[in-house]
Amino acid sequence: MKPLQNYLDGKFQEAREGGTREYLNPLDNSVLGVATESKQEDADAAIAAARKAFDEGPWPWTPAVERAAKLFKLADLIDSNAEEFARRETLNNGKPLREAKYDAADAAACFRYYAGLATKPHGQTYEVGDPNVLAQSVREPIGVCGQIIPWNYPLLMASWKLAPGLAAGNCCILKPSELTPWSAQLLFELIDEVGFPPGAAQLLYGAGDPAGMALAASDWVDKIAFTGGTATGRKIMQAAVGNLKRVTLELGGKSPVIVFADVDPDVALEHAMWAIFAGQGEVCNAGSRLFLERSIAEEFLSRLAVASGNVVVGDGMNEDTEMGPLITRAHQKKVLDLIESGKQEGAELLCGGSAYTDARASGNFVQPTVFANAPAHARIVREEIFGPVLVAEVFDTEDEAVARANDTIYGLAGAVFTKDGARAQRVIRRMRAGITWINTFHLTFAEAPWGGYKQSGFGRELGTYGYESYTEVKQINTHLNPQRIGWFKNLS
Ligand code: NDP
Repeated sequence: MKPLQNYLDGKFQEAREGGTREYLNPLDNSVLGVATESKQEDADAAIAAARKAFDEGPWPWTPAVERAAKLFKLADLIDSNAEEFARRETLNNGKPLREAKYDAADAAACFRYYAGLATKPHGQTYEVGDPNVLAQSVREPIGVCGQIIPWNYPLLMASWKLAPGLAAGNCCILKPSELTPWSAQLLFELIDEVGFPPGAAQLLYGAGDPAGMALAASDWVDKIAFTGGTATGRKIMQAAVGNLKRVTLELGGKSPVIVFADVDPDVALEHAMWAIFAGQGEVCNAGSRLFLERSIAEEFLSRLAVASGNVVVGDGMNEDTEMGPLITRAHQKKVLDLIESGKQEGAELLCGGSAYTDARASGNFVQPTVFANAPAHARIVREEIFGPVLVAEVFDTEDEAVARANDTIYGLAGAVFTKDGARAQRVIRRMRAGITWINTFHLTFAEAPWGGYKQSGFGRELGTYGYESYTEVKQINTHLNPQRIGWFKNLS
């Protein structure tokens, strides 16, 4: 089986030690293929090529309009390969094809957005105290950027990292998850077709440690952008300390959805389910805690239990599938163990709670699961589960809903459902989270910033903030009438 190859210094190539790692279909754990397995030496080669491309050019000095042209072309190529991207994502990740198609469209939109942004004004000029001085700031690329991405949105996360990084003139090394390497190969085939300078955009396969860690720890890497688990984020941050590299972290969450009694119940019910079951709940911003106002709670929960039991769970390649399998057996076990802990700690299981015993047993499926009446200290209330497990709670007042929604170490996302516009704004402004929605969920746009408060990370991706996170700010002071200072009398 020909392995997926690294793309280093403008060439597809296998890792120097020649090892490979299988990647699987979570539908039945069959082998889809193998990817080359990079070690320290390969990471070093990638870093050296990126260093050369950055320090000697031409990428950082390529005019913005030319960088933009390449990114626009890449966006068009992603569009024309969208079906193949979606197929690979579904087979390798398990998510329904319908979702994977959105990911492909969003990836193209992300490259297009940052292509456009590259040519827009980025600096400022300042009125300063001395009329003879013109003070300006310009934005410049940071340098070599290591980009480590997870397995839940392989193509989209690659796009969120590469598009702003390249648009701003950085030289980027992408390290996909070893679990989902397939779509990155196609993306880099298209990058090769567009024709970026060698070393500007590179693909490094391999395990988190050593391949990802080599990027995080290298003194020759200027920035590390990471999306993944909070525990790994801590390790990345520690490794990055050596050369004080720039770090952006997009980590886990335990995001609240607050539903007031005045809502259209069908709208709120479907969104509550979409918030947790989209992407099998393997979504950093998943709405995994549902807060219901007491007067509607009983009716809402009984409908939620029935509707969750009716979710079509199966092969993502089937057009009518609403939820697919989890990424690995190990992750399925982690989710099932957390469900078990919920039962042991006294939560009431309203639906789901198990794997399947039918034909789906060969895959990593977990039933859509809803708990209620969990004690506040229960692990299912406090920990990120990263699976289709919803914990519902009941509240009496707005203050109580906000306080309990904020009672978490995380602060990635949150939502409120109410017809009262003033209340919606009040609740969202008090919610300690970086991504919020009013009367909707999950909507994400390349144009708007994405990132978390508290232990959900720091820094922002997407929008102008995402571009800025790939730049340094340089101050330039120009004297318009150069003359002697007069401090040193004797210059001879
Ligand atoms: P990780 O955080 O371990 O993986 C994310 C990325 O980091 C992958 O590319 C991984 O590589 C890489 N990585 C892993 N260890 C290191 C390391 N020591 N140094 C550098 N890079 C590393 O996520 P897991 O897959 O282990 O999932 C664990 C939990 O994290 C999940 O259960 C979930 O709670 C959370 N998570 C959150 C995500 C989010 O979007 N915020 C996404 C994924 C997970 P490789 O996979 O090749 O080992």
